[in-house]
Amino acid sequence: MRIVLLGSPGSGKGTQASKIVTVFSIPHISTGDMFRENIKNGTPIGLEAKKYIEKGLLVPDDVTLSMIEDRFSESDCTNGFLLDGFPRTLVQAEALEAELEKNEKKLTAVVNLDVSDETIISRMTGRRVCNSCGSTYNLTYNKPKVENTCDYCRGQLFIRDDDKQETVTNRLRVYKNETQPLIDYYKGKDILITINGEQDASDVFNNIRKALETVR
Ligand code: ADP
Ligand code: AMP
Repeated sequence: MRIVLLGSPGSGKGTQASKIVTVFSIPHISTGDMFRENIKNGTPIGLEAKKYIEKGLLVPDDVTLSMIEDRFSESDCTNGFLLDGFPRTLVQAEALEAELEKNEKKLTAVVNLDVSDETIISRMTGRRVCNSCGSTYNLTYNKPKVENTCDYCRGQLFIRDDDKQETVTNRLRVYKNETQPLIDYYKGKDILITINGEQDASDVFNNIRKALETVR
């Protein structure tokens, strides 16, 4: 299965991705995670990406595409993948299609998580992420059992730099201008599945799972 998870920042893509990849046994490819890893390691891509991420802007397409292209050729992608946060622009969507066509492949489905702006803002301001395994928590909706400590690996939780109120507002604006047009793009290709992302995370997942089982 080759799946794209679409949705505004904070719509729950990462939360759902970790459940989907377990059930369907495909690798989770998150460009946001790849950028954060590059930033942590001080690579040239990381240094370039940081300038945009901290302002809530998209990293330019050429940088994003050069980072992700090699990832598709890795052996774990043979039986499919789940893309989280990519593509985010029409240029990226077209590049992805061209890359798949080279190997006579197509996307199986694009899952769009539909969540209102009000919910997004409250989710992102309460988001906490484990500095060791990357698990995501929320101070209101999904608290860790012990304050500031990951339930799974006991790592410390941190607030993402780009979850500050003014950056969140920017990211929502950028999403509407640059990423939202992908909804119509994939609708036109008849592979879009829209899921109500406002429900409890386990209900969102059950709906995604049912929908994906019909297209696999
Ligand atoms: P994205 O990867 O789309 O940016 P995340 O999965 O990191 O989004 O979720 C953003 C925040 O919202 C996190 O704090 C997460 O714990 C919380 N969250 C995710 N899904 C739900 C849900 N269905 N209900 C309530 N909170 C959620
Ligand atoms: P995310 O973890 O998906 O919310 O991504 C965090 C940030 O990384 C975004 O706000 C962008 O600045 C950058 N980013 C992630 N994926 C992409 C992408 N596909 N294209 C451009 N920028 C991206």
